Amino acid sequence: MHHFEYRNGELHCEEVAVKAIAKAVGTPFYLYSHATLKRHYEAFEGAFEGLDRMVCFSAKANSSLAVLALFARLGSGLDIVSGGELYRGLKAGFAPSRIVYSGVGKTAEEIDYALETGIFMLNIESPEELELVNQRAKQMGVRAPIAVRVNPDVDPQTHPYISTGLKKNKFGMDRETAITVYKSAHAMENIAIKGIDCHIGSQITTAAPFRDALLRLKGLIEELAAQDIPIEVVDVGGGLGITYQDEAPPEPQEYGRAIREGLAGIDARVVLEPGRVIVGNAGVLVTRALYRKAGEAKDFIVVDAGMNDLLRPSLYDAFHDVRPVDESLAASRVMADVVGPICETGDFLSRDRLVPDVRQDHLLAVMSAGAYGFTMSSNYCSRRRAAEVMVQGDRFEVVRRRQTYDDLVAGETIPAFMED
Ligand SMILES: *Cc1c(COP(=O)(O)O)cnc(C)c1O
Repeated sequence: MHHFEYRNGELHCEEVAVKAIAKAVGTPFYLYSHATLKRHYEAFEGAFEGLDRMVCFSAKANSSLAVLALFARLGSGLDIVSGGELYRGLKAGFAPSRIVYSGVGKTAEEIDYALETGIFMLNIESPEELELVNQRAKQMGVRAPIAVRVNPDVDPQTHPYISTGLKKNKFGMDRETAITVYKSAHAMENIAIKGIDCHIGSQITTAAPFRDALLRLKGLIEELAAQDIPIEVVDVGGGLGITYQDEAPPEPQEYGRAIREGLAGIDARVVLEPGRVIVGNAGVLVTRALYRKAGEAKDFIVVDAGMNDLLRPSLYDAFHDVRPVDESLAASRVMADVVGPICETGDFLSRDRLVPDVRQDHLLAVMSAGAYGFTMSSNYCSRRRAAEVMVQGDRFEVVRRRQTYDDLVAGETIPAFMED
């Protein structure tokens, strides 16, 4: 359920006409619905009512300050994977005590930053990382709260690039390694064992893998308890999928039931790290058709947004529905590729599909672009990053201005020695 609908023949975000925003802001831009973000967060959080829980929104899905600030105000915690995300999270108003930090490659600098900030816990992904965290904590004279990320080896049946809980993936540790790591952590003066963590992948569209992963964790928790290592927190990660095309992922309630089943018999606080399911369908990318080009094999609609703006189609061959902003254009469809201006054959937003038969200057909305959209964007081909706009009711505001050419070269210098 989202708030992007046609009204009087024109696509609206809540009560604002997309065309009016395009006129004021230019294209391309990301557009987020405040009501949808709020509703998705509340529906998700509500699915765990009665549990001792902390929902930590996963920053990498959408880390724009306005979006983060909304979740902070709704009482969410934050799941981060870098020092940069920690910085953003603090700027957006998250309490350090509601921030969890995952990721296989935390640097000493990032670990120091997290420890100084006093975050809720660091999810440890390797024995060497544990050593480093202990060392940094010692230097700082603190005890680092940690969880160990376990790789439960369950197949989430998703795209191979976003499955993270298989033996062959780089994330977490197998059961044996995890036990060894817990034992060494237990003996370390500057480590406080808090929890256990797993995250098995993303865009998962059935509930079973989540339950299976937790059942595997449960065995481990019991084994640790037998060795006097109590687990107070179970971080179940994120990964719940959304509908891009015709997927039918579990509703939050069903997901909630699967998590409850998996956790049955475990007396612990649960941490959840949803990303995509909250923001995915709460954002669209609005772009303008620049040219209609008849190729020899097929037609192309060249638009002003490219893979630097929305990478998912190029990276995962991901499906994003493409809708005309003017509803009258929705009925006639044509087999064409919607492509960007980037000099790569992989630069497409939609390929080999029926798309609206649009001409020069028509506006298109690339749907379901709220997650892993702007966060994955780049300046490739020296293209300025797009603007971001948030709508609430009948109001809209630019929450990130479009980059300028000056922004593109900010921080760069031509070395003095080249003048010699
Ligand atoms: C990316 C990520 C998430 C969020 O995943 P979604 O599929 O967007 O819900 C949660 N936890 C960790 C550790 C992640 O890396």
